[in-house]
Amino acid sequence: MRQRILPLLLALALFLTGCNLLPEGGSPAREVSESSIWAMDTQMDLRLYGDTEGAVMAELITVLNRLDKTLSATSADSALTALNESGRTEDADIVYLAANARTVSAQTGGALDITLLPVSRLWGFGTDSHTVPDPAELEALRDKVGMDKLSVSDGAVSIPTGTMLDFGALAKGYAADLCRARMEEAGISGILALGGNIQTVGTKPDGSDWIIGIQDPDNTGRYLLSLKLTGSKAAVASGDYQRFFIQDDVRYCHILDPETLSPVQGSLRSVTVVADQGLLADSLSTALFVLGREAGIELWRQRGDFEAVWIEADGTRWITPGLKDRVVEGYYQVIEP
Ligand code: AMP
Ligand code: MG
Repeated sequence: MRQRILPLLLALALFLTGCNLLPEGGSPAREVSESSIWAMDTQMDLRLYGDTEGAVMAELITVLNRLDKTLSATSADSALTALNESGRTEDADIVYLAANARTVSAQTGGALDITLLPVSRLWGFGTDSHTVPDPAELEALRDKVGMDKLSVSDGAVSIPTGTMLDFGALAKGYAADLCRARMEEAGISGILALGGNIQTVGTKPDGSDWIIGIQDPDNTGRYLLSLKLTGSKAAVASGDYQRFFIQDDVRYCHILDPETLSPVQGSLRSVTVVADQGLLADSLSTALFVLGREAGIELWRQRGDFEAVWIEADGTRWITPGLKDRVVEGYYQVIEP
């Protein structure tokens, strides 16, 4: 799966950053610096403007590698694996993320659930063999999962034996926030493609908007919509085309419905959330994919702190009114406020 995803992410990054390589007015090429790394199980492409000494790029890479080491659910020596084995951690990143996940989970009727790792593994995600599990085996995991298993207090996270956490739904958004904060502090701009998470920071040297693309779930080298974003924004997509397997003509994707303990099935192919904060955008994109379009729109009406694009299997593309003037290319339907 990794081999399949890599070229697609590269294509996405090229689309996102492949225009206006030089700032307008012919500023020297050294004003633009680019790096690609593999971290948090995905390709990450970083493009910075104005990092003339390369110091900020080096710091961002250090942050991303630190989070990779801390939050990996597969590495034997990550802080997350230590928590999943021992039941307790005081790791500051994990405590912060667990507290945040609990909040968003409560706000989304439990659609975001970071305790599904044993269930994901039973379906074969994160392993070499994907398979539809035996229903009894799946049900046997039910008393290990659920956000009520999580205790966050006094700067520590505790979980009972057998419960395991997974920050796959929000770690990249958090990583983008930390990178953005560092870039803003250093006074530089840029665009980061952390897998499907796009983070824009500041203003391009030529003052033009950032352009991002929403992938076609059936052909990830194509874009159904392109949007212009101004300033620092997070745009995060969750979809059934990112990691999946097909058995007996049924597609099973990596996003699980906590109620059924099974991959989300429905008419939705992807949801993209645009918000000020990466962590919120990432948490919500996963939760909105679980909720489906109607419940997701209801949540958008209640909250008002994000914009979104829903791509349906029948080809319809629904956008929140705040994105209407941001569409550069592609047709769409606008949701009623
Ligand atoms: P994303 O690509 O941000 O939507 O996150 C998907 C990843 O989050 C999966 O690969 C799993 O590691 C994990 N995950 C799957 N289903 C859920 C869920 N309902 N809530 C939270 N995390 C999930
Ligand atoms: Mg997410």
